[in-house]
Amino acid sequence: FNAITARAVRKVYATPSGAVEAVAEASFSIARGDFVSILGPSGCGKSTLMLMVAGLEPATSGAITLDGLPVNGPRTSAGMMFQDPTLLPWRSVLENVLFPVSMCRPVMPDDRARAEQLLRMVDLWHFRERRPRELSGGMRQRVALARALINDPRILLMDEPFSALDAITRDEMGLALARIWDTTRKTAIFITHSIREAIFLSDRILVMGRRPSTIVEDIRVPFARP
Ligand code: ADP
Ligand code: ADP
Repeated sequence: FNAITARAVRKVYATPSGAVEAVAEASFSIARGDFVSILGPSGCGKSTLMLMVAGLEPATSGAITLDGLPVNGPRTSAGMMFQDPTLLPWRSVLENVLFPVSMCRPVMPDDRARAEQLLRMVDLWHFRERRPRELSGGMRQRVALARALINDPRILLMDEPFSALDAITRDEMGLALARIWDTTRKTAIFITHSIREAIFLSDRILVMGRRPSTIVEDIRVPFARP
């Protein structure tokens, strides 16, 4: 099975001012362990497509499967990152990373060990007892990355995670993500407006068009990262 398969996926939002077709008809498949970027103009449906893959937004028609099985609502095994890391301000960095675990069951010593290991990977182990407001923007996004990986999800979904960061921090985050992704090899979807970032990080780039909002190009990035 492919890790992710979308077949003729369409999404229409009902709004007070009428129906909005957010995704016209998208079909693609992503092989296990691939890192795929999605590029496209604002409002073309990238976030909607990602939310459907995550099982957080039902498709109006079409089908999405993960490892051959239909996406399973909010129980879908996806780690997610957004532009805003939304950390809990009154909890430590370590507790923020453990938060998805604490939502499902009591936190065990093994969970703490894993959270500490992830914090080492994102270079924040020394900051594990700090509060989010003590950290820089790039550091907060690295906490969000560790949190996205804590439940060992099958896929990693990232919606413009670096867009709010300055250019230099953004480049550092790209390097950190590339390094982490090289060790975890999670199947990943990464929404970005930066073609440079997409080329640097991805095995493949899917380009969405505005109207109809569907995938208009599927580009295999022909060179490996250094
Ligand atoms: P992108 O991520 O490419 O900017 P989105 O998926 O956020 O695009 O949005 C696609 C279209 O769907 C836009 O026209 C947007 O206004 C609309 N849209 C997104 N979310 C909703 C929603 N929850 N309700 C109604 N319309 C929405
Ligand atoms: P990032 O690239 O993650 O945004 P910065 O460039 O802001 O991080 O900071 C570089 C280094 O400076 C960090 O890795 C950290 O060691 C230290 N640092 C940054 N902000 C703080 C802070 N508020 N308190 C303590 N150390 C900090």
